[in-house]
Amino acid sequence: MRGGPLATLPGMDRLTAEDDTTMRAQTDAPLVSAHAPAWRNRFHALGPAFYTELPARGLPDPHWVARSDDCARLLGLPDDWAERPDLQALQVFSGNATWAGMRPLASVYSGHQFGVWAGQLGDGRALWLGEVDAPSGTFELQLKGAGKTPYSRMGDGRAVLRSSIREFLCSEAMHGLGIPTTRALCITGSALPVRRETLETAAVVTRVAESFIRFGHFEHFAHHGQPEALRQLADFVIDHHLPACRDAEQPYHALLGEVTRRTARLMADWQSVGFCHGVMNTDNMSILGLTIDYGPYGFLDAFDPGHICNHSDEQGRYAWARQPQIGLWNLHALAQALLPLIGDGDAALAILETYKSVFMDALLARWRAKLGLAAAEEGDHELIDALLRRMATDRVDYTLAFRRLASFSTADGARNDAMRDLFIDRAGFDAWARGYAERLAHEASIDAERALRMNRANPKFVLRNHLAETAIRRATEGEFGEMDRLLKVLQRPYDEHPPGATDADAGFPPEWAQTIEVSCSS
Ligand code: AMP
Ligand code: MG
Repeated sequence: MRGGPLATLPGMDRLTAEDDTTMRAQTDAPLVSAHAPAWRNRFHALGPAFYTELPARGLPDPHWVARSDDCARLLGLPDDWAERPDLQALQVFSGNATWAGMRPLASVYSGHQFGVWAGQLGDGRALWLGEVDAPSGTFELQLKGAGKTPYSRMGDGRAVLRSSIREFLCSEAMHGLGIPTTRALCITGSALPVRRETLETAAVVTRVAESFIRFGHFEHFAHHGQPEALRQLADFVIDHHLPACRDAEQPYHALLGEVTRRTARLMADWQSVGFCHGVMNTDNMSILGLTIDYGPYGFLDAFDPGHICNHSDEQGRYAWARQPQIGLWNLHALAQALLPLIGDGDAALAILETYKSVFMDALLARWRAKLGLAAAEEGDHELIDALLRRMATDRVDYTLAFRRLASFSTADGARNDAMRDLFIDRAGFDAWARGYAERLAHEASIDAERALRMNRANPKFVLRNHLAETAIRRATEGEFGEMDRLLKVLQRPYDEHPPGATDADAGFPPEWAQTIEVSCSS
């Protein structure tokens, strides 16, 4: 996807592309307000081997682009947080001001990119603001796009509006789907030009998570032969995020086991809603099993297991059907990094061995829910597989098919046209439908009850590329209402009629959607 017509943006003519001398680092005294959250800086306690402290480089003359009230509530911010003069949230979340207690830093990590060791990476454009003590827990906040850091390498430290909207919307959409994810509080924008394939404009996303620690953080200290730092990091994750591991006989074994299970379950979640991450490099894998770093992701339209959503992924390493395998590959990289702590390669491999069964159990449970099967029976795997094969052959729309399957009627003579019409091979569908009806009869399934359950497992609304693209185009023209409308729909993806939803939101993608290309450029 490319940016829209920049000439329409107010103030564009006054600004030229950023260079190091024109941008002012934020130096004003921190703002003190009784309405600002209390901050903790636990990550700071790890010490300077883990990060570099530095101020944000703010956006000039920022404006609000989007906000998630749901995420604001999670953080315990007051209802009027965005407008309160004492909070100056627009300036704070554009990197132009800080609240007392924030101590911005960029963390260092390394990682494998597309299967190859990439060396040191790190927060090249993310800035860790600290941790907020919220009613429901402690959350880390990051600004993404607030300037260069020592880990920016050749990058400019910026994020463009287009990719910021994609990250914001999908973070909140995945949460709405019930899938573990980093969250997004807001986007601020500016007329500041940023060069990608074309000139675009800068934005900052504020993202929120229990932890932004990645597999790559562990790989970094293992690769650099720093076992003490590695142990410190593992202890940090255990103490603050996975305390049950501390009670295990071998806490580091338990840590690897927990990350293995979380990753396996996350992969089952992704597969079940047809989500394709696009860049499953080890630096984009969360140690807490969250979906993290939304780039060239996509949701399946016409079902193609080999679907590659990232235009830059020429070999299809991160194709939809390969994600579960890649999840395991990445866990091998993590296990390798943890080896100095675990001390026994066979034990590490034995832990990774659990991945397959956890994944398969989780996947089957999700598939059964998608098909409305209450109990597990012999042959379920084959029934599901047969449906997916037919869907792949006929390129049936993934989201529409499962949503329509909820209204499947087992009554004598029912043709189930809504679902049937999605297939080219109707006789093939009828054959599958007979088997499905028999399977439902076997557990005395009641159509109306099953439909209710299935509608809670099969979303009606997912963030298809064309929906994001329309919101981006409007936002590029300075109109943010479409994004807000879409956000509210995506926050309730299982509802039949969320406020503001249109038929088109839940329909087939339009013809032009096929021309959308998403790549690593962001
Ligand atoms: P990603 O592919 O977005 O996960 O990023 C991989 C690495 O490149 C990370 O270290 C990022 O921080 C860094 N990076 C990506 N884009 C930029 C940018 N525009 N400026 C600085 N660093 C970047
Ligand atoms: Mg990344």
